[in-house]
Amino acid sequence: MTPDPRKTSLLAALRRNGIADERVLEAIEKVPREVFVEDAFSDQAYADQALPISCGQTISQPYVVALMTEGLRVESDHRVLEIGTGSGYQTAVLAHLCKRVYSIERYRTLSETAAERLKSLKIKNVTLQVSDGTKGWVQLAPFDRIIVTAAARGEPQALLDQLAPGGVMVIPIEERAGKQDLFRITRTATGFEREHLIPVRFVPLVEGVPRDG
Ligand code: SAH
Repeated sequence: MTPDPRKTSLLAALRRNGIADERVLEAIEKVPREVFVEDAFSDQAYADQALPISCGQTISQPYVVALMTEGLRVESDHRVLEIGTGSGYQTAVLAHLCKRVYSIERYRTLSETAAERLKSLKIKNVTLQVSDGTKGWVQLAPFDRIIVTAAARGEPQALLDQLAPGGVMVIPIEERAGKQDLFRITRTATGFEREHLIPVRFVPLVEGVPRDG
């Protein structure tokens, strides 16, 4: 198959912007982003920008997906918990890099659409659930990696608790209105270490599940 020139230039832009992990770039190369955007935006599938999806949510900007995935330091034997399935794009990228992705979304519509897309791409190492991700997935914890793709007001305690020893969580945190930053939190023998990555803009992490979602 000839590579899509739009995808080739997106990958070049990601490299120019400092994404260096070849496994991450390869995973991004493998996932057709056009499958995860709304039809109305298919001409912008490889633009480096976030796009609207249903339920008033967004598919993240490719650079942010790449940076978060790289920052997560995923290994092939890892079990990864994702909060905020959304379009399913980040889920698909992670699925190429780890053993299994467990992804939680609060909108049923989004979760069901994501499931169809992942199935159409024959991505099988993914388990989706509709629930409130701020509570994590107690029955399946601990996780080697946790990625949160919506902005939290603080670090959700349940997610810290469900991180394996040595585990890493990447999470956008809104410390005051309008100011969000991406952090990497590592569980050490004695507690948690926090590193600032970049300023970001995500839709909010919202507690509870919509009744008609
Ligand atoms: N990774 C997704 C990002 C989608 S936007 C993508 O690239 O497409 C963030 C998603 O988090 C939204 O779909 C939103 O509904 C979901 N979300 C927000 N709060 C949540 C919660 N408490 N539990 C689960 N999902 C949540």
